[in-house]
Amino acid sequence: MAHMLGISESVAKLNDGRLMPLLGLGTWQNTEPGSVQDTIETAIAAGYRHFDTAFYYMNEAEIGKAIKAQIQKGVVKREDLFIVTKLWLTFHSPEDVPVGFNKSLEALQLDYVDLYLIHFPVALQAMESLVSSGRVKSIGVSNFNISQLQRLLSVAKIPPAVNQVELHPYLVQSDLVKFCKVKNIALTAYSPFGSPGKPKEYHRGADDPGKLLEDPVVNDIARKHQRTPAQVLLRFHIEQGIVVIPKSSSPERILENTKVFDFSLDEDDMKALKSLDRDWRWDSNDEVKSHQFYPF
Ligand code: NAD
Repeated sequence: MAHMLGISESVAKLNDGRLMPLLGLGTWQNTEPGSVQDTIETAIAAGYRHFDTAFYYMNEAEIGKAIKAQIQKGVVKREDLFIVTKLWLTFHSPEDVPVGFNKSLEALQLDYVDLYLIHFPVALQAMESLVSSGRVKSIGVSNFNISQLQRLLSVAKIPPAVNQVELHPYLVQSDLVKFCKVKNIALTAYSPFGSPGKPKEYHRGADDPGKLLEDPVVNDIARKHQRTPAQVLLRFHIEQGIVVIPKSSSPERILENTKVFDFSLDEDDMKALKSLDRDWRWDSNDEVKSHQFYPF
């Protein structure tokens, strides 16, 4: 087998020249002080260097504390980490952007974040001045559709480096994937397993992608490669150069989810996975459906 890139070498090159690890750890719903500490420690030991949080997740302070402890112990250096956080909807007026950002940075106890995302596109306020301050290295967006990206690209001085969206075989979004590739915007796939652990009130009934891990096609491919369905769903993105941020707080699964750099999916596997597309998204943010910039 040809040499395969390992976890630390598998990166996306962003349009601003910076490198972003293809595998990151999702942290939504991980808020228990002790548990966050253990999760971050386990993940760093397993090789994760990219962590995805958000003001909205209410765990930036815990994550910051855990990361600081790891740096102080000499386990990792700040410059080896790629920390992503997101501006929440309540801070979208231009004068509120630095306020929201400072809250995140303070909670995280960091001098800078590697990537700052606009969490949801109901406002398109520039975060460019944060980049010139040096406290944000790259900026990007989340949940933007093609026309919103087009509009943003037409006005932005700094084009977004990343668009973080829900992406998995039940929501392939091939037009968006193509568009981002052409425009040199890296994609981060959130909810790669269809978010099976989300709270009940978020379940979308029969059209919920939360059963993705049980899908027979995914399971057949997993058996063929002697991998788990989760690993197949992660490799699906790595194969396409798409960044992926599975969430887990179980040490076994945190480790399992890193073992995706020593096998590959062939063309037939990729075709079969893409054929599962049914436009099922769980995270449709219905509460802002009436907004003029609602993206879905
Ligand atoms: P996910 O698809 O990553 O699913 C996580 C759940 O899958 C876990 O709670 C666990 O129940 C299960 N799981 C994890 N590893 C497994 C394994 N190896 N085998 C079997 N089951 C396993 O869902 P998610 O947490 O919604 O998405 C990942 C991350 O993406 C979030 O934590 C967050 O950081 C980010 N996110 C961003 C947005 C956004 O609007 N930008 C929205 C949702 C999620």
